Amino acid sequence: MCQLSIALQVEALQQQQLRDWPLVRDNYAALEQAELRELTLAHSMVVLQLNPGRRGSAAARVDAQALAQRPCFLCRKHQPAEQRIVEWGGGRYKIQVNPYPIFPHHLTIAALTHEPQSLADPHRVADMLQLAHDLPDYAVFYNGPRCGASAPDHFHFQAGDKAMLPLCAEVNDPAAWPEENRIDGNVEGGIAFSTRFGRFLFLIKTVQPVQAQLFYARLQVAMMLASGKMEEPMQNLLCWTDDGNYHLAVFPRQRHRPANYGTGPGRWLLSPASTEMAGLWAVAEADDYNALTAERVQALYNELCVDNAMAVRMIDNYFKTKMGSFN
Ligand SMILES: [Zn+2]
Repeated sequence: MCQLSIALQVEALQQQQLRDWPLVRDNYAALEQAELRELTLAHSMVVLQLNPGRRGSAAARVDAQALAQRPCFLCRKHQPAEQRIVEWGGGRYKIQVNPYPIFPHHLTIAALTHEPQSLADPHRVADMLQLAHDLPDYAVFYNGPRCGASAPDHFHFQAGDKAMLPLCAEVNDPAAWPEENRIDGNVEGGIAFSTRFGRFLFLIKTVQPVQAQLFYARLQVAMMLASGKMEEPMQNLLCWTDDGNYHLAVFPRQRHRPANYGTGPGRWLLSPASTEMAGLWAVAEADDYNALTAERVQALYNELCVDNAMAVRMIDNYFKTKMGSFN
């Protein structure tokens, strides 16, 4: 029997949801009209998107008490009747259309069962790489439970058009990756760090997904050792394929929300996560959208991403982890 590719099944799902679910139809139509503005940082571009539909996500309470009191919106029993899914990963995940989009094609890929947001199980990163392979027009992203996930109690990835994320193209600039920034690898691929874009990141680039998993496993240990906490490090991840290469970008974080997060005078309703790390800022409030400048965005990256001292600790620990693995 002929089986449609996942990408085609997802396209059919999107068309069906746009046709039969008014909320989705209205929100994707509104996104088409969304105002956009570009900001130029030293070596990267940021796109601001005025998107009032994201207010719910930007304002979401993610503390344990709030989570315990709200019905989980990724569990089937609490979802709208109109929501349809495509099963993926041997029945372990459901791919669904995100009804509050940032991208013209915006997916949520959630575990079928209610289990916490965590990458402790190495299969999760393997799944992320496979998803990026199966959805070649998308960047698949993961927001850590303390770094932007609005459902930290129910495991999920998201995915959106990679062409809308400036960073996915910017990482191809060789100037961002001098040889001395490479910390592991061979002819098939490697892992390196970069400071060129005004926010620190690690990038794994390889033709072999298994190699990407190995590098990420070492990196996760290195990040935990550097932070001194044996729990999932604060992080945002994005994964996409390009010319047969897998890219896995890891943004270690030192802070979840900015100090002046909130609404009212002197406050900004900004809860930056993976898409902001990749250069696309969905801004819910018009006042914030109008007031943001390149300097302000750079200050937010400085506040939320790891500083030099922490980055150096992570790199040092990566080398120790790498050597240890050969003992
Ligand atoms: Zn759930």
